[in-house]
Parts: sequence; C-alpha cells; structure tokens
Amino acid sequence: MANRVEEVYEEVVRRNPAEPEFHQAVHEVLETLAPAIEKHPHYADYALLDRLVEPERQIIFRVPWIDDEGKVRVNRGYRVEFNSALGPYKGGLRFHKSVNRNIIKFLGFEQIFKNALTAQRIGGGKGGSDFDPHGKSNNEVMRFCQSFMTELYRHIGHLTDVPAGDIGVGGREIGYLFGQYKRLTNRFEPGVLTGKGLAYGGSLVRTEATGYGAVMFAQSMLETRNESFDGATVAVSGSGNVAIYAIEKAQQLGGKAVTFSDSSGWVYDPEGVDLDLLKQVKEVERGRVADYVERKKGAELHTEGSVWDVACDVALPSATQNELNEDNARTLVKNGCKAVSEGANMPSTPEAIEVFQESKILYGLGKAANAGGVATSALEMQQNAARASWSFERAEQELAKIMKDIHDDCLATAEEYGAPGDYVLGANITGFTRVADAMLEHGVI
Ligand code: GLU
Repeated sequence: MANRVEEVYEEVVRRNPAEPEFHQAVHEVLETLAPAIEKHPHYADYALLDRLVEPERQIIFRVPWIDDEGKVRVNRGYRVEFNSALGPYKGGLRFHKSVNRNIIKFLGFEQIFKNALTAQRIGGGKGGSDFDPHGKSNNEVMRFCQSFMTELYRHIGHLTDVPAGDIGVGGREIGYLFGQYKRLTNRFEPGVLTGKGLAYGGSLVRTEATGYGAVMFAQSMLETRNESFDGATVAVSGSGNVAIYAIEKAQQLGGKAVTFSDSSGWVYDPEGVDLDLLKQVKEVERGRVADYVERKKGAELHTEGSVWDVACDVALPSATQNELNEDNARTLVKNGCKAVSEGANMPSTPEAIEVFQESKILYGLGKAANAGGVATSALEMQQNAARASWSFERAEQELAKIMKDIHDDCLATAEEYGAPGDYVLGANITGFTRVADAMLEHGVI
C-alpha cells in the first residue's frame, strides 16, 4: 500500500478497536486504491480517504419486546449511515445473533462501493440487530419489528435512508416494519423500504435479484473465456434467498447445482438440487437442510468439511462472511473450478482471495457480483416514485443490463490500470472514483 493509504488504514485500526471484519473490508478496498491515487493525486486532497472510512452517522438503540411467555426481552438495534455522496443511504437490515457494530460497519462500508457500481444514485448504509429470528413465532417477530421501527422511523425516509432485507430479514419482516412506519408517521411512503410485498408496492424480481445477479455476473465472466453454465456443475453455499435464486438461475442456464448448506450442515445432491423441495423446506416451512435430505433420495447430509470439497466448475458462495478460507480456495482450484461469483458479502477470506488471484481463476467479488439485489431495490424505488409496477420481464431485463454494465465497467477499469481480468481492482476503483468525485464536489462535509 502507498504511504497515505497505509496511514489511513492504521488510523482505522486504532480508532475502531476489536472490529476485525470492518478492518478487513477497509483493507480490501484501500489496498487496491494506491494506483488510482497515484494517477489522480487529487483523490488524497481534503482528507477524502479519512472521511470515506468514517461513517457519517451511527445509531445504536435499545429494542425491548415481549415474548410469547410474557417475558421482556432486550436486543440491540443498529443503523450505520455510512455515505450519502451519491444518494440516500441504502442497504439492508440483518437480524442474526452475530450482529454487532463491527459487522454492521463492515457491511455498510462494502455497500458504499457496491451501490456506486450499480450506477443507481444510492448512498451506502446498513443496519440490523442481534435478534435471532430462529424459533420465534410470527407474533414475536412482529412485536420485535414494531419495537425496532419505533426507534428507527425517525432516522429513515425515502430521501434520507432506505433500508431493505439481508440475512434474517425477508418479506415477512419488511411487511411488519412497513406497517409500523406507516402507523407512526401517518404516511404511505412506499419508497422508505424495499423488498416490500407485491400487494403494497414491491417489485417483481426483487426476491430473485441477488441470486440471479450473481449468476449473471458469473456468466459474463465465463463468456470472456468462451465458457458458459451449460453443462456446468455448480457448488452453492447457503440456503436463504440468495442461494435459492442463484440455483434457480444456474439451472435455467443449463447448469447443475449440487450443493447448499445452513448452520446445521451441508447437502450434496449428485442428481442436482430439487428446487421445489428446497423452496418448500426453506421458504414455506422455515426448516433445516436435513428436512430436504429426508425427502430426497440420493441426497447426502454432511457435517464435516464444506460444500467446497465437491468438484465443481462454478462456485457461488451465498451464505455469509468469511465462509470460504484458504484451504477451501486451494481445493476449488485443484478440482478445476473455473469461476467464483460471490452472492454473499465478503464470503472469501483475504488468504482465499490471494489463492484465486494467483491461480488466475475468474473471481467476482461480492460488491460487484451480488449488487443485483440492491440494484433491484433501486428499481423498486423508481417504480414507487412513478406509482408504476413493471412486468417480471421488464424488471429482469433491467437487472441483466445493470449486471452486464457492472461487469464491463470493472473489466474496463482493470484494463485501464494494467491489471486485465482483475475484478477486485476493477470494482474497488470504479466504485471509489464515483463516490470520490461526488464527495469532492460537495466540499468538506
Ligand atoms: N442486503 C442486500 C445487500 O447486501 C440488499 C440491500 C438493499 O436492497 O438495500 O446488498
């Protein structure tokens, strides 16, 4: 790293102790920026980098709620409004027991560059809670969401900050959050949240968008080497919204997805995943991966190792951060994997990324490859503003165009900086320059 960039990173570590994922996300971006700053030294003016790594606003609040036994429970709520240079803060809410300030800051920081890459004029933010929706009744989830929104509502708005879903927050939670926002503000303001139900202002394709987009990105990468999904064996991790729709799109393109996982284990289904069954188990019954194996002949449940032990042509990490380590990366490369496209946020460890880059495998990092979700959120905002609802075909076409543009922009930037095929450098510098140009025009704020 060039000197200035290194100083900024050291200061981030000093000022944000015990936040390893946040440090990792910042390091990953900063280490690729040196050539951009060398070429355009004005990007180091006005403490631009120091401002970029400091969230504009961080909100932490108490979320008390009453469980079905009448016991009072207390969780912690977060919203980090990281950067609004390109538009209102935009990013999901994560409800998971691992959520803390570190996790929300790493996700918020990633979101700035991801959202810039979509070219949809949205800033970056993220929020959530350490509330664990597993095993909670619908009524408990509703009471929690209402309490969470009772504080959050004063900080958000369609021109201010627009939350959506992430791990643990899907259509059900967004519905309860929207209902409480509407009640508290006495405003039907559809553009304040995305990922809404179709009955009250949601967009077709939003549910599918992150998974579909990760596959579209992989497809564009494969095309650069005259390869495709047709006949490809695909390894997927996770079994949430991203994984399910990544499998769906991979299958539509002629690929055979053979794995998925959750925190209880992972499944190898050599015949190819039965998507209807997986949707029934995960989306309808909110069950575990073992419930799939019980009903599908030939499918194996594993608790040792990981989905990355299965030989595949394309890997789609779609579970969570740091789920794919150096050993997993070496196994993928050894088994002849051609492309990795990240549906999750920061799923590969820095050591794993190094392995991918050394081996010259096609590697699409999350902030580019999984931008389809938030891009379609922006399309939802666009429809809400116009009081319009697009067809599935139209929304999917727009998504495909955005993903293609992100891919091509990353490649062009990589080429410009003498690193052809380096999507990491391409994505980080493209996203950074868009945000930096706007920040410099706004003055020191
Ligand atoms: N949580 C998703 C992400 O990581 C989507 C955010 C949004 O739609 O605002 O990008």
